[in-house]
Amino acid sequence: MTKGEHTSEVRVRFAPSPTGFFHIGSARTALFNWLYARHCGGKFILRIEDTDRQRNTEESLRVLFEGMKWLGLDWDEGPEKGGNHAPYFQSERGAIYEDYLQRLFRSGHAYRRDGAVWFRVSGKPAIIHDEIRGDVVRLEEKDFVIVRSDGSPVFHFVNVVDDIAMGITHVIRGEDHLSNSSKHVELFQAFAVAAPKFAHIPLILKTVGSGKMSKRDQGALIEDYQRREFLPEAVRNYLCLLGWSPKEDREILPIGEIISLFELQQISKNNARFDEKKLTHMNGEYLRALPVDQFVERCRSALGSSGLSGAVSDDYFREVMAVCQEKIRNLETLGDFCGYFFRDRFPFDEKAMEKLFQGRDALERIDEFLKAIQSQPAGEFSGESLENLVGSLAESMGVKTGDYIHPVRFALSGKTVGPSFYHLLKVLGKERVEHRLRTFLGGFTTRDQ
Ligand code: GLU
Repeated sequence: MTKGEHTSEVRVRFAPSPTGFFHIGSARTALFNWLYARHCGGKFILRIEDTDRQRNTEESLRVLFEGMKWLGLDWDEGPEKGGNHAPYFQSERGAIYEDYLQRLFRSGHAYRRDGAVWFRVSGKPAIIHDEIRGDVVRLEEKDFVIVRSDGSPVFHFVNVVDDIAMGITHVIRGEDHLSNSSKHVELFQAFAVAAPKFAHIPLILKTVGSGKMSKRDQGALIEDYQRREFLPEAVRNYLCLLGWSPKEDREILPIGEIISLFELQQISKNNARFDEKKLTHMNGEYLRALPVDQFVERCRSALGSSGLSGAVSDDYFREVMAVCQEKIRNLETLGDFCGYFFRDRFPFDEKAMEKLFQGRDALERIDEFLKAIQSQPAGEFSGESLENLVGSLAESMGVKTGDYIHPVRFALSGKTVGPSFYHLLKVLGKERVEHRLRTFLGGFTTRDQ
């Protein structure tokens, strides 16, 4: 008996074939395996199915390992980690496959024909015990090749051999593999080993239509989320919902709670649909929930080489980020969202400009506001006193507070949206506010002449 057979501990594996990218569907398979292992206190094994040597480059592995670590999917056995069933690369397990192949020859389940090795099917229907779909019965009618004439072993064979040798108790994988499972069950029977339990998880469809997410679809690759500064905890939480859901329509849950709730039987039979809007929304929720220190840290790394954060004091940087935290949904757009806090020259949204400054009213409001704040001591240039100031100004002029807020915000930032107006004023400070408003009005005077 090989090490690992007949163990009562739950042992699951993620068995990717390196492709050069980490697809969202693979990541979700890895995640569900990891969740189940952590739920049961079992082991999560990473096995690299790299019999296709051309694709097995260092770079493919790097993308995969980094993506998994980024998502927090730590493995208990596998590359970099080792374990009792090493090696964890199929390309290094040739001797094991040879040994298992000889067993099949001895028991009469394998034979040679035309240079290849064939597996002799039983002719009886195979029962696939699937935790999600119940028992699926399939008849494998034809013998199939397990070692090609060039000597390379076929996926079905090595996949089953490794699941046996590594003592895998549950095979959790994409539904696209359901059609392979009858071959696999036949192989387990031939080795006189009970097949593991299966859980074939639903596919992930594109946002629109009935097609499966392909690597070319926006949002399909984990490395893109890393590059785009998404929070890994948000991406992971979103991936959990692609095919699984906690009761009571809850969506945002700490991972510890997901682990304790996660059951294979609760995975949906229906395909899941990818929705980047929802993911971005969740990302925003996660950003807002971060303690401000952590948020500021993430912002600093997200702005990285943009040069935006370099020229200002730590205190100013922190204040800016603290007011952005309430509104931002994605750190990818942070530079654009808050760039004007760091530079006096910034782009103006042309369309909004035309709309806001059709007549002279808005310019007059800016001028009135500018005059009104002059009497305000710089030290008291704060949220509440500014709110009062704008309130009484509007009242005395018989206009709405919005008539001040919109053009002034625009003149200060070039945008119609951003952090709360009074926070914006306070963080920029009196001096910058006055300077920018004067420059803005000056620009108009020159244009009009
Ligand atoms: N290497 C296969 C894949 O990437 C593994 C399938 C399985 O999990 O059994 O699809």
